[in-house]
Amino acid sequence: MNVENSKLNVERSAQSSNLLRKLDYSIVQQCMHCGMCLPTCPTYDATKVERNSPRGRISLMRAVADGRIETTEAFGDEMYFCLGCLACETACPAGVDYTTLFETARAEAERAGVLRNPKRDAIRSLVLKGLFTRPNLLRFVGRLLWLYRASGAQGIFRGLRLNRLLPYRLRELERMTPRAQEKFSHQLIRETERPAGEVKYRVGLLTGCVQDIVLSDVNRDTMEVLVANSCEVFTPSAQFCCGSLHAHNGDVETAKILARRQLDSFNLDSLDAIITNAAGCGSHLKHYDHLLAEDPAYVAKARLWAHKLRDIHEWLAEIGIRPPKIDNQKSTIENLHVTYHEACHLCHGQKITRQPREVLKAIPGLKLTELAESTWCCGSAGIYNITQPEMAAQLQERKLGHIAKSGAGIVATGNPGCHLQIESGAKKFGVDVTVRHPISLLAEAYRRERR
Ligand code: SF4
Ligand code: SF4
Repeated sequence: MNVENSKLNVERSAQSSNLLRKLDYSIVQQCMHCGMCLPTCPTYDATKVERNSPRGRISLMRAVADGRIETTEAFGDEMYFCLGCLACETACPAGVDYTTLFETARAEAERAGVLRNPKRDAIRSLVLKGLFTRPNLLRFVGRLLWLYRASGAQGIFRGLRLNRLLPYRLRELERMTPRAQEKFSHQLIRETERPAGEVKYRVGLLTGCVQDIVLSDVNRDTMEVLVANSCEVFTPSAQFCCGSLHAHNGDVETAKILARRQLDSFNLDSLDAIITNAAGCGSHLKHYDHLLAEDPAYVAKARLWAHKLRDIHEWLAEIGIRPPKIDNQKSTIENLHVTYHEACHLCHGQKITRQPREVLKAIPGLKLTELAESTWCCGSAGIYNITQPEMAAQLQERKLGHIAKSGAGIVATGNPGCHLQIESGAKKFGVDVTVRHPISLLAEAYRRERR
């Protein structure tokens, strides 16, 4: 075989393994270049560069799929500059499946190895494969984070301004260190929780990974709200990460492994619904049927799973929220002035906008003030605030500016990433606001009812 032929074969084999080339071409060629998505795209809004817009990115993806350009480092960088907020998908009149394009493009960048370097490889391997596939290790890290704060070490570290000795990126990471909970979900929720009265529904509850470490109280509140709405709740004590972090960061194979583990944790036939309270997870969990479409052992189960998966707000609106009965509203509810930030993967990823407002409006005495640009990304976007800190900080500042103008004392939001990003932004910009999950506010109303 001469050198030219051998080069050609190498090229062909690279093309055949190219993930965008293998993707269904009806998805690749859906965009009709109308540009209606451009004003909704936060990265295009910031730079006004076509390459940083949905239309520009889709053109790049199509060029790679068509073999007109190689998968290069610049391509990989562009795909990771995208937030994955899916605002473009909501705006698009042609129904472009940006979720699939975006996930495939990032997976292609990883397959081609165009962004590889020893530091990035080590961090990815540690976080995606090491930490987020091992719930016990993740809880151990959560316990260390809790100790760091509870022992006073964090206060001393910051009081002595030792954080100033850290490089900028590490200093920012230290500043954003979330407050881990003292107890995790399995210590707050029994495997089976039953309502005192009639059982109308049987549901499974997902406790998540980050949610379990930093917002396990939201999981407990979710269980209490479900029980107050006549649901028997089954919460397996050992649960795995849903894999959304992996799918959004180009590691589809690990995402598939985690999806199979998740499916094995629940007896789907005995449940009316599987409930999640984290928007980013829900958006991914509803696509298990696509993720495992070529796995004969799991495809049927994944379809049933996708059929039964519900965001908590969606489920409550579907079965009808029982409004809490509180007689003396004045003495129990004060300053419940709330604004609502819409997590991208709830409003764009799952098209759930009405139901969280229904939950909030069911709470007696709550005043809801609409937030300007409520569907605009806050900059959290999974681990975007770690990988792209400058753009994330811009979006965080914009969001906090609107929150401050709303005059509300509470921001309600249904995603742990947004929760932490807004909480850390409030501290950074001195905005006097508390971040709560809508379900936690409803759970408190039921507690007041019981009192
Ligand atoms: S997902 Fe968000 S950041 Fe990415 S192209 Fe769409 S609108 Fe822009
Ligand atoms: S993604 Fe949709 S809205 Fe954006 S340019 Fe293409 S067809 Fe138009």
